[in-house]
Amino acid sequence: MNIDIGLIRRSWSLVEPVADQVTQHFYGRLFANYPHIREMFPPAMDLQRDRLLHALTQVVLNLEDGAGLNDYLGQLARDHRKYGVQPEHYPAVGSCLVAAMRFNAGGAWLPAYDEAWMTAYNYIAEVMIQAAEQDAVQTPPAWIGTVVAHEVRTPEIAVITVEPDHPYPYRAGQYATLQSAHWPRVWRPYSIANAPRQDNLLTFHVRMVPGGWVSTALMHHTRPGDSLLLGPPRGSLVLDRASTSHLIFIAGGTGLAPLKALIEESVWVPDRPTIDLFHGVRRSGDAYDNEDLQRLRSQHRRLRIVHAVSDDPEGWRRHSAVDALEYHRIVPDGDVFVCGSSEMVRVTANRLLGLGVPFDRIHTEFAPGAAPSLAVL
Ligand SMILES: Cc1cc2nc3c(=O)[nH]c(=O)nc-3n(C[C@H](O)[C@H](O)[C@H](O)COP(=O)(O)OP(=O)(O)OC[C@H]3O[C@@H](n4cnc5c(N)ncnc54)[C@H](O)[C@@H]3O)c2cc1C
Repeated sequence: MNIDIGLIRRSWSLVEPVADQVTQHFYGRLFANYPHIREMFPPAMDLQRDRLLHALTQVVLNLEDGAGLNDYLGQLARDHRKYGVQPEHYPAVGSCLVAAMRFNAGGAWLPAYDEAWMTAYNYIAEVMIQAAEQDAVQTPPAWIGTVVAHEVRTPEIAVITVEPDHPYPYRAGQYATLQSAHWPRVWRPYSIANAPRQDNLLTFHVRMVPGGWVSTALMHHTRPGDSLLLGPPRGSLVLDRASTSHLIFIAGGTGLAPLKALIEESVWVPDRPTIDLFHGVRRSGDAYDNEDLQRLRSQHRRLRIVHAVSDDPEGWRRHSAVDALEYHRIVPDGDVFVCGSSEMVRVTANRLLGLGVPFDRIHTEFAPGAAPSLAVL
């Protein structure tokens, strides 16, 4: 990789404060110059802009980490197959991206930055094209999933089980992007709530967001027999099977889904670790998965489950999942996995650091330096 990282970072610092303008300019230019590419994108572009920005930031931050960057780009490339991205689209994206940065740099852009970015971009494109080609030999760009069960567990949460039309190779803790027939070309990530199973079924825990396109369609307009599209598996929240003898899982709401998959997976860890699961919900009625968690506990003798309720006006003790960990005097002396809203993950990770848990023992989907999860160019 012959990329001038110094030039990339210097030029990025010029445009980072106006990154929103850069992405708007980029898409405007791309769609004006290459109108056929517009068809590959969803009607509303807001999330798409965030994703481009996120992907760019991750690339800029991880340039020194060759293996990590390649792994991330590989995931990105596999994911892009579902949009119908072809090798001939890459030069169009590269030239519009550099032009958008140059245009928004307030006259401070140097010709050397053009060259540095094109070298970096050509490298990125090469890695992605190769990864997509390799992937195409074995797997489809997207899977058609048939909904085989749809359980409304609370007024806001549904548990949906899907049977993909082909084997879906993934690791416990990963997520899939889903597309509902109600919102063509709109993909949203949802964690897979079970470890890989012989029957190939995938379960998702969906919380409906008020006004949310895909979550509302999944909650209210999806029934057994319906089809969903599934993108390839993504994400880095996976278990190291040579892990510690004590695993702690801290979930907020439907952040339970990937952690449940990891608990199922933990039966393969040598010497069966002790597991503490803390599931935090706002109100006691939001604890949507108690029955299944009881079943899981009956299969894992070393699994302890603690529920924490943070906002129940009638609850006699109100606390978050990480409060519960302290209250029960559990010493976080092993790997700790955290999943929930980004705010919950941020607060919990800070509390864990304060309790002396080493940084590299705290596992989240959004850990700095880990392969990011949202990036879709
Ligand atoms: C890696 C990853 C895994 C995820 N796994 C799950 C999962 O297992 N289960 C699950 O239910 N969701 C999960 N999500 C969130 C999910 O992908 C969607 O963002 C969510 O369902 C909203 O999508 P939507 O199309 O319904 O809403 P949109 O149409 O995207 O949004 C509608 C409005 O709601 C706001 N909004 C979006 N999300 C939220 C939110 N979470 N809380 C409050 N306001 C919001 C938006 O800003 C917008 O104003 C995951 C997200 C990521 C990044």
